[in-house]
Amino acid sequence: MGQKAKELVTRAGLDVDALIKDLNSAYCDEWLAYYQYWIGAKVAEGKMFHLIAQELAEHASEELEHAEKLAKRIIELGGTPAISPDLWLKDSTCGYLSPENPDAMALLKQNIAGERCAIEVYHKLLEDVAGKDLVTEHLVREILEDELEHEQDLEDLHRSCDMKENACNTKAKACRK
Ligand code: FE
Ligand code: FE
Ligand code: MG
Repeated sequence: MGQKAKELVTRAGLDVDALIKDLNSAYCDEWLAYYQYWIGAKVAEGKMFHLIAQELAEHASEELEHAEKLAKRIIELGGTPAISPDLWLKDSTCGYLSPENPDAMALLKQNIAGERCAIEVYHKLLEDVAGKDLVTEHLVREILEDELEHEQDLEDLHRSCDMKENACNTKAKACRK
């Protein structure tokens, strides 16, 4: 813990314990997002699966970086990042969508939903700390920018599949939705 880190946050009028709780919830979200992307990249099927799996794998590593950044800040503030995977689902806001349907288009839809939830979480957190805890503000803004990019990347992939109908797996009903 950094004594000064905690002091600055308290002086700004923020409840440190509540902030740590919010950061920990986001930390749990990141591990679930990481695994959802990671396993999605492994099981993806369908004609565009190579391209999509590559993007999913890239996003997985970026979600893990988010978890790293959040863990560092939680520790600085005197908290403990979730020490057991049991807590990931329990304390998560965005939850986890199992890739029961390995069709790459279906995976995209699931991950788009996850990104939209993450954007809401980080936007709310940013509003809470803006102008008060400048270090967390910077960190959360960086992550929010990544999540916005993630959503757009996945939407673009989904759209390009829609436009090139014959490039999609013919079984991928999700393409036509
Ligand atoms: Fe993330
Ligand atoms: Fe993301
Ligand atoms: Mg990307």
